[in-house]
Amino acid sequence: MSKLPNLTYCMTIGLDALSLWISSFHTNNPSMLSRGELDVTGCRRVLDILDRFNIKSTFLVPGHTALAYPNLIKEIRDRGHEFAWHGWMHEDARDFTKHEQRLIIERGLEALDLVVGVRPRGHVSPAWNMSTDTIDLIEEFGFEFDGSRMATDHLPVYVRKGDSWTKDGPFQFGQLTDIVGIPVAWIMDDVPMFEFAWGEIPGLKSPAHAEEMWHGELDYAAENCPGGVFNLTVHPQSIARGARIRVLERLLQKASEMDNVTFMKQSEYVDLWRAENPREDWRAKNPELAGDGSIRELPSMNRSA
Ligand SMILES: [Zn+2]
Repeated sequence: MSKLPNLTYCMTIGLDALSLWISSFHTNNPSMLSRGELDVTGCRRVLDILDRFNIKSTFLVPGHTALAYPNLIKEIRDRGHEFAWHGWMHEDARDFTKHEQRLIIERGLEALDLVVGVRPRGHVSPAWNMSTDTIDLIEEFGFEFDGSRMATDHLPVYVRKGDSWTKDGPFQFGQLTDIVGIPVAWIMDDVPMFEFAWGEIPGLKSPAHAEEMWHGELDYAAENCPGGVFNLTVHPQSIARGARIRVLERLLQKASEMDNVTFMKQSEYVDLWRAENPREDWRAKNPELAGDGSIRELPSMNRSA
């Protein structure tokens, strides 16, 4: 008897706060920076809605946010939610060496340990950016899952490490790891739709725009991705501003009324999915995603002139 629901809804909440504007948007503008403070008011609005629907969520909390708002982070813990690692200062991994990334991971972990005494089981790259070293580091630090994967829409994968590529040669697939990859997508995120920054992102879509996309995606996943996950990532500073929060409320209302949808934290879903999808079974069913069967060289490219 399968314990994996037909569709699991993971409510993932990015609490980037000030770090998003300092690091990802490189601002020294106090007005722009203050947008991150809306995460505090917005987070409490979101927490109240989650309580109303009895949903436990996964909060992505950079170390910088944990130190800025320790009481809020403790409140999130005390209200039954979990945390995933999400940078120290919402860094873009591509800007750092492997050694520097290691220090960033340690700093993010230290801050969460200091504030809430938690060691997250999951890793979510800030803005889902990775360097070619990142997956090695996820494994090195013992994270069990990574919520930054885009190879599928609503089904998890086992993550490969050591892929390599050039602009003129065959793709070289690396080795499969035990890390479970939870799917994400920019259409499943509120920031690109809503947030406006001059010359960077246009945003400013209506709440109805997000509502149409997310309801359609939820219906599709429930009908077509058995055992899958609807992993929507929202940010209180974006989704909890005024009328937009109604979009989240109506989506959760709809999902809670669907008898084939169950809410879970990412770690709970990963445990159930892994139990029903041992790695080698999954590999046999998904050879392309596992990186098996590719042709690794073109004969003519090795022929001497
Ligand atoms: Zn983030």
